[in-house]
Amino acid sequence: MPRPIFAEIHPNAVRHNLELVKQKAIGARVWGVVKADAYGHGIERVYAALKAADGIALLDLNEAVRVRELGWTKPILLLEGIFTAQDVQVADQYRLTTAVHCDEQLALLSNSRLARPIDIYLKMNTGMNRLGFPPEAFRAAWEQARACANIGEITLMNHFANADEGEVDWQMDRFDAVTAGMPGQRSLANSASVLWHPRTHRDWVRPGIVLYGASPTGLMKHIADEPLEASMTLRSEVIGIQTLQEGDTVGYGRTFTASHAMRIGVVACGYADGYPRHAQTGTPIAVDGVRTRVVGRISMDMLTVDLSPVPGAHVGSQVELWGRQIRIDDVASSAGTIGYELMCALARRVPVGVA
Ligand SMILES: *Cc1c(COP(=O)(O)O)cnc(C)c1O
Repeated sequence: MPRPIFAEIHPNAVRHNLELVKQKAIGARVWGVVKADAYGHGIERVYAALKAADGIALLDLNEAVRVRELGWTKPILLLEGIFTAQDVQVADQYRLTTAVHCDEQLALLSNSRLARPIDIYLKMNTGMNRLGFPPEAFRAAWEQARACANIGEITLMNHFANADEGEVDWQMDRFDAVTAGMPGQRSLANSASVLWHPRTHRDWVRPGIVLYGASPTGLMKHIADEPLEASMTLRSEVIGIQTLQEGDTVGYGRTFTASHAMRIGVVACGYADGYPRHAQTGTPIAVDGVRTRVVGRISMDMLTVDLSPVPGAHVGSQVELWGRQIRIDDVASSAGTIGYELMCALARRVPVGVA
């Protein structure tokens, strides 16, 4: 028998969350973002649930090819664009749409021999200062793209630095000023903008994290009113029990001291499974459906939980690390990170199934 840990992916949750996005962004088309192997879920596992999306967006060329070979006929967008002349050939062969964020990518496209023009997302850097043409260079890039026979439809793109904190206007105003009068569709919005900034929705929205039922801010309280469903459950079992007396300590570094006699459970899940080592004493966790807390430091292969609220717990009791009952955002925030990172960091040694 393998260790009792396993992850369940819930495609129906992704389908449900996509429907919610479509209700929020009525009139916009939707890129389902599946970068990082669908935020750690496995593209193949969520693929069918994204049927109602208008396109699939990601940034690894091999993943793009996998999506096409699964039978996806609608657009596929490379969010970081192409890196080599060979990539341009693959984009041509598999009919990929690509972001273009710098002169070097324009040159790669111009210098290729293609079967047909490639549609692009021309990206402006409106203040994120990651990828994109600066506003003052955008029109020239756009004119160059328009004159390039290898380039088909041009969509104008921006990415927000602060949509989760509520600040988008400063970037949107720059974008709108520079692109005023330019033909072409617009794509600005990530998950946070889909939820909280309707004015950014425009022609195509690009939600990622909300499709997986987690919060763009990393805080569950910010999506508590949204009927999103968790798309990943991480489960394990209690594999040992210890009875502590007042003053006993638990685990490496002895970071938890019992203030009274209590039972703790040892769970087969540690940081080598993708559970965050920085999770604090108090991080929520469920044993046999009862919410309790992690105590002490997370080990490589194990962690320890307070069994005080679960007097019936025994070796073999079921544990939910995150999922429908224990929100991944709550685990993440207790470890100083965001749900995105936990999903993406699910370790390869954890068996995964679809449920
Ligand atoms: C990752 C990404 C998204 C999706 O972001 P979420 O916060 O997960 O919704 C959208 N656009 C671009 C360019 C991205 O890289």
